[in-house]
Amino acid sequence: MPNWVGQQLGNYCLLRLLGKGGFGQVYLGEHIYLKTHVAVKLLREDINGTQTEAFRLAFLDEARKIAALKHPHILRVFEFSMDKFTPYLVMDYAAHGTLLERHPPGSKLSVARVISYIQPIAQALSYAHTTQLVHRDVKPANVLLDELDTILLSDFGVATIAHNTASMQTIANMGTASYMAPEQLQGHPVTASDQYALAVMVFEWLCGELPYQGDPISVGIQHLTTPVPSLRQLNRELSPAVEAVVQKAMAKDAKLRFASVLDFVYALEQANQAEPQTRNSASNSVFPPAVFPPAHTKSFVEPAPLTLAFDNPFSFALSNTADSIPALSLIDDSRGLTYALLANQEPLLNNSIANNSSVNKTRHVYANGMTLLTYGSASGKVYSVVWSPDGTRVASAGNDTAIRIWDVASGETLHTLSHGSAVYTVAWSPDGTRVASGGNDAIVRIWDVTTGQVLYNLQSHLVSVNAVVWSPDGRFIASASDDQSVLVWEAVSGKLVDHYEGHDKWVNAVTWSPDGKLLASAAGDQTVQVWEATSGKLVCRYKGHNSDVHAVAWSPDGKLLASASGDQTVRIWEATSGKLVRRYEGHSASVNAVTWSPDGKLLASASYDQTVQVWSATAGRALLTYQAHQTPVFAVAWSSEGSQIASASYDVHIWQVS
Ligand code: ATP
Ligand code: MG
Repeated sequence: MPNWVGQQLGNYCLLRLLGKGGFGQVYLGEHIYLKTHVAVKLLREDINGTQTEAFRLAFLDEARKIAALKHPHILRVFEFSMDKFTPYLVMDYAAHGTLLERHPPGSKLSVARVISYIQPIAQALSYAHTTQLVHRDVKPANVLLDELDTILLSDFGVATIAHNTASMQTIANMGTASYMAPEQLQGHPVTASDQYALAVMVFEWLCGELPYQGDPISVGIQHLTTPVPSLRQLNRELSPAVEAVVQKAMAKDAKLRFASVLDFVYALEQANQAEPQTRNSASNSVFPPAVFPPAHTKSFVEPAPLTLAFDNPFSFALSNTADSIPALSLIDDSRGLTYALLANQEPLLNNSIANNSSVNKTRHVYANGMTLLTYGSASGKVYSVVWSPDGTRVASAGNDTAIRIWDVASGETLHTLSHGSAVYTVAWSPDGTRVASGGNDAIVRIWDVTTGQVLYNLQSHLVSVNAVVWSPDGRFIASASDDQSVLVWEAVSGKLVDHYEGHDKWVNAVTWSPDGKLLASAAGDQTVQVWEATSGKLVCRYKGHNSDVHAVAWSPDGKLLASASGDQTVRIWEATSGKLVRRYEGHSASVNAVTWSPDGKLLASASYDQTVQVWSATAGRALLTYQAHQTPVFAVAWSSEGSQIASASYDVHIWQVS
């Protein structure tokens, strides 16, 4: 498809490409008068003069159905039009991206978090199902998040529209078969097909992998014939009840699934309440867990002929015997995209991505508030950035699975450590010899910075590790996870010494008080909890935020805590009493990170609003707004000598603050 950047469609000027999918391209658009932002999706295929009138009517009928959908969890589509022959739709712009970006393939999430995601999705589907509209393309890439992190299901019925407008080639390109129900693959989608796709998403998030893998045709055949793999073989912490619910929603026969998508979610909630996820004490070891038998049965149930179709009337027949495989090239060259999509869903485990060649750096020298250095791998979001204790190096890490340790003066990469899955957090030991990392594989890794070797793998968390932090004396490491716990480990031996279970949602952040006696943890339950490091005894529960708390930082004198939240505020409060001291409201979107200046007089906070703001702790007044990222900022860290800040978005910037 051509590049549309800079062009105008209707009243919208297309600013940049947001992404490409099976049906076309999505651009960020700006209203030429109102300056509001929208997402403009250009469908791949032209509607040309050869189409029949009946065809056009069917196409418009579907578009009308989509435009009529009004639901708090359905992304609004408010215009459907055509530029010459290219159909496009204009929809709300979802500033926080997709759930696929938030939880890249390989992520393992807690049952509670999965339920929190699928509840709104199921409500949206249930609403559409009452009018017999089938979504047909339920998958993490089609679940978007707005600036308040509201879950929005997108691309309702686009599969149908694209089908109506598409040639055979586009139909073969229609995204992956990974989430498609057997009857939909055979060309007969029903409302229960969406329940099946939702259940595949649940499977993927709970197990860290898709139930069926391989090339698109093999995946299609497995959906049709291979029994659902055991979830508990892939994640032994899951209860039999949870497994049974997911398997029922993935029944091959649509009639054997739950009566409705809401019934499915309700059953999952019940199963989770009956037998909540528990920690397996045998896994409290620094050694890799026991290997379970492979979960995927490769054998096909029946060697009977099958029909795979991406929608009627374009179907093609194949039989699943070995000699039928060459026939799959029937949809040959047009399958390239589909393959690419599947390949993207593999966890980035190989070391080759962790080389330094993709890193680019630019050096500028400016004064106060200006960028000194940008360091970028151009391969995804950077979630964590930390200074070495001596201030000469920085460690940064994110979705590209590598932890890069680099020299601040030169921008040269010193080490590239391959964590093996998306990295959400990095922490430097107080003596500067080690770093700890945690990510979506649920493992905390401890590395020797001088050799770049991994020393320990700490494996007791059940799902993603969101934060790791060293105690000020370097003896302990605390790690916070989506499994709702904070674990405390002995740094020298990797022995698990304590666990804190006071939160009832995922824990996003944890920080040690400067004297090493207390820990503060911030969570999706909207609280920050301060507790004794040795006993786990709760000292203070702060409930001031109205949304997920993403970050918490202790003032250098140990008296105050600053917490940053999805409610767009940073709050400063007394660490032991919870008394609110100051509320900072300078951001216009969710705040992801906060850091104190070493003298405790200033704070810097980083937000989805694309800025880092430096403000005074005593007056709560903004002193400096750093705007050079122009994309959401996920992490921020103040250098120990106080004159520089490191902030991370898709690259890391080092900038002068005083
Ligand atoms: P499919 O074609 O099956 O829907 P997809 O969802 O990956 O696959 P698109 O819907 O074309 O593909 O979207 C491509 C990318 O564009 C998405 O992954 C997302 O990052 C971005 N995107 C799509 N719609 C929006 C939106 N309304 N707001 C912000 N970003 C969007
Ligand atoms: Mg989409």
